[in-house]
Parts: sequence; C-alpha cells; structure tokens
Amino acid sequence: MKYNCDLISDLLPLYKDEICSEASRKIVEEHLAECPDCKKMLNSLNDVTIDEKIVKEKEEVIGTQAKFFKRKSALAGSIIGLIFSIPILVCLIVNLATGAGLTWFFIVLAGILVAASVIIVPLMVRENKMFMTMASFTASVMLLLGVICIYSGGNWFFVTASATLFGLTVLFAPFIVSRRPVNAYIKNRKGLAIMCAYTATFVLMMLAIGFYAGMKEFFPMAFAVSMPLVGIAWAMFAIIRYLRFNACVKTGLCIASAGALTSLISVLGPAAEASISRTGVTYSSGVSVPPLTFVVIGLVIAGIGFLVGKNKGGKK
Ligand SMILES: [Zn+2]
Repeated sequence: MKYNCDLISDLLPLYKDEICSEASRKIVEEHLAECPDCKKMLNSLNDVTIDEKIVKEKEEVIGTQAKFFKRKSALAGSIIGLIFSIPILVCLIVNLATGAGLTWFFIVLAGILVAASVIIVPLMVRENKMFMTMASFTASVMLLLGVICIYSGGNWFFVTASATLFGLTVLFAPFIVSRRPVNAYIKNRKGLAIMCAYTATFVLMMLAIGFYAGMKEFFPMAFAVSMPLVGIAWAMFAIIRYLRFNACVKTGLCIASAGALTSLISVLGPAAEASISRTGVTYSSGVSVPPLTFVVIGLVIAGIGFLVGKNKGGKK
C-alpha cells in the first residue's frame, strides 16, 4: 500500500462529504480498493442510522421527563388548591353562622384568589405560563379591590383600580411583550407597544382621579403638567429607537426635546392656573433655569455629535 491508514482515515470525512481535492480523492479511492479496514471505516461514516437512533432516544428521554414534571406540577397545584380551600370553607361557615348572609367572606375569597393566581396558575397552566400568571394576578387584584370597595360602601374603585393597572402595566409590560402569545402579534414593535400601554393606562388613571375628585379644574391643570412629561418620554423613545445617528447626536436631541417640552409646561401651566385660581387652588412653577437654555445646550451637543460623526464617515 502506497499510503498508510492513518493518513487515509484523516481524509475519509472530507472524502465522504465530497469536499476534498481531486488529488486526495484519487489517493483515497486507490487505497480503499486494496484496504478492507479503511473501506469498513468509510461504511461506518456513511452509516447515519446510529446518529439518528441516538437523537431519537434523547428526544424520548426528554419527552418522558417533561411529561413527568408536568404531571408532578399539576399534582402540586391540586394539593395547594386543596390547602387554599380550607380557609375558604372555614370563613364561609363562620360568616354564615355569625352574620346575616355572606359579607366579608368574599374579601377572603378574593384575597386567596390573588395568592392562588401566582402559585397555582404557573403550576397548572401548560402554555403561556408567564402571560396567564400575570393576567390572572391582575384580574384577581382588581376583583379584590372591587369586593372590598363594595363591602365598605366606597366609591374609590376606579381610582385604585386604574392606578393599580398603571403600576402593574409598568411592571409587566416588558415581560408580556417578549413572551407568547403577545410577541407573535407585535414582533419587532415591542418598544412601541410598551409605550402605548404606559400612555393608555396613565391617561386612564388621570381620568379616573379627575372624575373621583369631581372637579372640572383638575383636568386642565393635571394634563397641562403631565402631558408634556409624557411627551418627553415619547420623544426620548422615538429619538433613541428610530433615529439613525450616533449616541452624541441622540443625547443632544433628548436634552433639547426635554427642554422644549418643559418650556411647554411653563406656557400651559399659567394658562391652566387661570382656571384654577378662581377655585382658590394655587399653583407655582418652581422652574429656576429657563427650559429653553436646555434646548440650546441640547442642540449644541447634537451639532457637535453630527460634525464628529460626519468627519468619521468621511475618513472611511
Ligand atoms: Zn487502510
């Protein structure tokens, strides 16, 4: 034999995948014709059924394990559910025995539902665990607030519910937009979806507070101050997310837009103040640095960034 088997065995994988040179191919074929050992080795390389078997076995093991854990977590969920039902039953009986009908029992029931939503739901739900847990937690918190409000004869439900909804949206939105089933619908518009959710729940909260306070004067003042601030958040989001400039330009534009929208408050504020002064509520804007200064500073920074970026681009 012209070549030794070690050399050929090094070449065999390349030969098998047909990526070796013409010269190597000839050498390998010459050698294979007279060496049964190397021929055997090539056959074992071509024999992919072994790999397939291993993959199949691996998948089977993973599948069985997954089923096992799903069964276990469903069992754990059922047991915890049973444990939760004990205080519910006790309270039901005590409430019926001591009062005329069911009253505070519903508060206990709603309270336990809040706990169950974060413990039992993730154990029992098979798909979209995070989404289902956050949704059921939000719903049960709303239910609890509603029940307490009805029981205590209050009229504050919408104020607390909208404020709670805003707070939970701030917490949950970043997780919800990146998980099933929501992420399939919004794809790469996650930031936009979060900003919309924040703005919508914030406006809802402001409206609820205004109607609860029952004063028309609340709205002009509240929105004159808060909407430019919401605008700052949107402007910064749009600049950072969508503009294709360097960080220096973006920083400058963020500062400039914050300055411009803050100066909008100092225009809208006094206008709203006119309607408020009649009611005796006083308003003072404690702005000491003129916001327009920030617009100028921001534009200068953006300009420097733009020029620096331009020079860099020119060199390339
Ligand atoms: Zn050989």
